[in-house]
Amino acid sequence: MSVVDALAEALPADALITDPAILEGAQSDASGTGAVRPVALLRPSSVEQISTALKLCNAHGQAVVPQGGMSGLAGGANPRAGDIALSMARFAGVEEIDPVAETMTVRAGTVLQAAQQAAREAGFALPVDLGARGSCQIGGIIATNAGGVSVIRDGMTRDNLRGLEVVLADGTVLSNLGKVTKNNTGYDLRHLFAGTEGTLGIITRAVFRLRRLVGQQRTALCALDTYEDVIAFLAHARASLPGLAAFEAMWRDHFAFNQEKGGISLFADCPAYAVLIEAETKAAAGEDGFDRMLEAAWEKGLIRDALVAQSETEARRFWSVREGEAMSQGLPGLLSFDVSMPIGDMDAFATRCKETLGQAFPAVHVLAFGHIGDGNLHVCAGFEDGIADSISDRAEAIEETFYDLVRQFGGSISAEHGIGTLKRPWLGYSRSEAELATMRAIKSALDPNGILNPGKVL
Ligand SMILES: Cc1cc2nc3c(=O)[nH]c(=O)nc-3n(C[C@H](O)[C@H](O)[C@H](O)COP(=O)(O)OP(=O)(O)OC[C@H]3O[C@@H](n4cnc5c(N)ncnc54)[C@H](O)[C@@H]3O)c2cc1C
Repeated sequence: MSVVDALAEALPADALITDPAILEGAQSDASGTGAVRPVALLRPSSVEQISTALKLCNAHGQAVVPQGGMSGLAGGANPRAGDIALSMARFAGVEEIDPVAETMTVRAGTVLQAAQQAAREAGFALPVDLGARGSCQIGGIIATNAGGVSVIRDGMTRDNLRGLEVVLADGTVLSNLGKVTKNNTGYDLRHLFAGTEGTLGIITRAVFRLRRLVGQQRTALCALDTYEDVIAFLAHARASLPGLAAFEAMWRDHFAFNQEKGGISLFADCPAYAVLIEAETKAAAGEDGFDRMLEAAWEKGLIRDALVAQSETEARRFWSVREGEAMSQGLPGLLSFDVSMPIGDMDAFATRCKETLGQAFPAVHVLAFGHIGDGNLHVCAGFEDGIADSISDRAEAIEETFYDLVRQFGGSISAEHGIGTLKRPWLGYSRSEAELATMRAIKSALDPNGILNPGKVL
């Protein structure tokens, strides 16, 4: 009996899809690099169904690619020829919010925004947020150990995990949905699965710590003249605002390109660096620490101008420039890099990158912005429409040049998007042979038949 027939026999009809039109939609994540339909799509609605499906696939040596919200940017959820895809979309929902333990127990297929909303309604915040919040799922953010826009306050996804449930390749359900912070009872298996991109197990449920909502969200966009000022402003903001969540710096090219192409006018005189900061502050008796912090920064000469958002709409306008919404239209097929390095090196790296890529690839636009507080730099490289050579002809050479620079600076080739297939060729730039061998040993111990997301990460 074929594996698809065995799955059809063991699972309810709605848990297995073989309709080619539906399989078409399971080809690629948001990187747009997937072009192969899976042979079937599993859509389980319970942990038992996931366990049954994996047991059968393992017995048949059938490769399975886990799929969350498909917002990944590393090709990690893309099927290869012959793979079966396993979508978590039907195993969704918040199971419990415990206001005393300040935790949320949530199913892996839940869309992040829905989980955030449930937390807010209970007076809490789920301490993970990213631009793809409307599509990425809880299982996906754990599997990629997503970062996002509040890492300087809240940490990465793994830092907010209290408990985790995973189904292993042979169908074993490994469940520890504890809510406690302190649990030193041997190996911490939560962290073994966070960031493994579906190669060690299928994440089914998680317990997240929640954060109490204490005040109001304030957002400002500041203009600065030098990178030294950016670093000093970060230290000043951190010391003044315990609730500082985002400190996002845009280099001049990024800010100017997105301001102009997006038709948004913020600073008439384009600054060398624009910094978007966001913090949750307590407004005590008409006074707000946020405004005082900005005034003091101005008096110290760290910032030369600041726009304070007076509404959520205005804050969104600031974010749209930082998120580079105009870039994808202005620079079709642009390459987007996500790397990290010590904060003190980021400006030198951005400058070297612009010089090196500019010399090797004339007319290239190199736009940089970063979650500066956590050393994460995003660099986009692209050409304006109408330039004779398309970017796809030069992508490999640009990537090679770029990652070589990252290696020279001792940086990480992936700060938050993961490895998937797209960064696999460069994994050795950031990980030693000994580390890679240890990863392979863990993989073969947990998935000896190599059925879970083969070809990804390692
Ligand atoms: C507009 C935009 C903004 C973004 N911003 C950020 C950002 O700020 N920070 C950041 O870190 N990322 C960001 N991303 C990337 C992406 O959103 C994250 O990587 C996200 O965590 C992926 O979640 P997903 O559910 O979409 O996973 P998918 O794309 O479906 O899958 C990602 C990987 O996880 C595996 N996987 C998915 N679900 C499971 C599961 N239940 N069990 C085991 N493995 C699983 C897949 O096999 C794949 O390897 C952004 C993407 C977009 C499009």
